[in-house]
Amino acid sequence: MRSPVLESSPAVEELRAALRGQVITPADPEYDTVRRVFNAMIDRRPALIVRCLDTADVLAALAHARAEGLPVAVRGGGHSIAGHGTCDGGLLVDLSLMRGVHVDPARRTVRAQPGATLGDVDRESQVHGLAVPSGQVSETGIAGLTLSGGMGMLQRKYGLTCDNLLSVDMVTVNGELVTASAEQNTELFWAVRGGGGNFGIVTSFEYRAHPVGPMMLAGIVAYPVEEAPAVLEFLRDEIADTPDELSTDVVFLRVPDLEFFPSEHRGRPVVAFFLRYAGDVDEGWEVVRRFREFGEPLIDVVAPMPLVHVQSMLDPANPRDHQQYWTSEFLPEFGPDERGAVARIGADLPSPETVLQVIPFDAAPTRVPADATAFAHREESWLIHIVGQWADPADNDRCRGWVREAGATLRAFGTGAAYLNLLSEDEADMRVSAFWNDARLRRLARVKAQYDPDNLLRFNHNIPPAPAEDER
Ligand SMILES: Cc1cc2nc3c(=O)[nH]c(=O)nc-3n(C[C@H](O)[C@H](O)[C@H](O)COP(=O)(O)OP(=O)(O)OC[C@H]3O[C@@H](n4cnc5c(N)ncnc54)[C@H](O)[C@@H]3O)c2cc1C
Repeated sequence: MRSPVLESSPAVEELRAALRGQVITPADPEYDTVRRVFNAMIDRRPALIVRCLDTADVLAALAHARAEGLPVAVRGGGHSIAGHGTCDGGLLVDLSLMRGVHVDPARRTVRAQPGATLGDVDRESQVHGLAVPSGQVSETGIAGLTLSGGMGMLQRKYGLTCDNLLSVDMVTVNGELVTASAEQNTELFWAVRGGGGNFGIVTSFEYRAHPVGPMMLAGIVAYPVEEAPAVLEFLRDEIADTPDELSTDVVFLRVPDLEFFPSEHRGRPVVAFFLRYAGDVDEGWEVVRRFREFGEPLIDVVAPMPLVHVQSMLDPANPRDHQQYWTSEFLPEFGPDERGAVARIGADLPSPETVLQVIPFDAAPTRVPADATAFAHREESWLIHIVGQWADPADNDRCRGWVREAGATLRAFGTGAAYLNLLSEDEADMRVSAFWNDARLRRLARVKAQYDPDNLLRFNHNIPPAPAEDER
């Protein structure tokens, strides 16, 4: 929907003049490119896009939104599957050009601007032999990932991304600058570690980093998909006895058409251990031996490689411009019934690009007290993640229907707790409250009421501000 008034109004010209970055309206030729997000299923048309280059630009964008009564969407890396990095009709604060990363090797801390990708953070941290725990596809934005948790190969040893957050600098919707940390604005600091983008626009994230790499051991050991029940049982039996440095997910996928894999197996459905050892490489060979010696693998491609390669090896399997419909479920148990259901779903993926991932949720993230952060799920469990993706929109109904049905099957074994960063648009609302639970949601709502009482920031897993009488 075009908005000629906004495109040409004096207020827009004033905003343009105030920025170092750019204002893009539907009249601009780059509008259709810039409004796109990772998930090609999301097709939204903001009234204005402000491509910020600094905090002053963020302040100017928010002042304009307040003056014009526009709701505000915020984009970091644009990877939200639910499409939260854009909106229809509002003002989109696009931070994706603010990608600076600064490492303090002496303090082992890393500061990232809000448009930095995971690859940006890894690349710069690795210069100093450090790593911030994050996710596993390098183009994902660090901002959205951190604010709602952040899971990846270092989580068993060092915790979630939000568990390694030391502070944020934030611009509130009223244009105030606040820092939240363990010492300042502590309730806000609690809320931004799992409460998503509800409270303001973060302009700087400060993380604790850890000595990892530059070389580590990683790869996959794959079996015919029919062997899934035995592979899943082996993972369930072995995981507790593996060091925290080891990340071992089980993935169901078709072998990608990549040089890395033997050509005779490409395209074949397999079930695989996805192994990553974030410690000494020689020790790693010993740790992964039991997985490589299990059964008769079709493919065994484990090798030492740089951490930055490990962190981008899944990039080709997650192409831009694909239709995406995801779901996830934490299963408290992983007995024969749960494993049987997962094996059946994994053997029947609806498209060549769809992946099912079984992630043991244990070790460091579960050692954080449940009330320490707004990230609500701290129980040992099994996160089942269905990455539904396909190229042709003509397959949308069929593939989306398949993911929904698979999700419903998993939900029968779950507690309702999902990982919000992995949910799709139509799932989000109904599962948000289940994730945070009533008491935590009330606490989050009070923080929301303090920092965004009019819910200007509502394109997220939204926390409605607490009514005035609850703001205690
Ligand atoms: C290919 C792919 C791989 C993924 N892999 C992983 C993984 O390994 N581990 C994992 O935990 N998750 C993973 N995810 C999920 C990921 O964490 C979420 O999609 C997350 O939202 C991505 O953040 P973003 O900045 O790219 O998203 P965006 O779409 O830009 O933003 C998402 C949300 O964050 C808010 N937000 C963004 N920036 C700010 C800011 N500066 N201030 C306030 N609010 C802000 C937005 O308002 C929005 O609500 C993956 C997603 C994709 C598409």
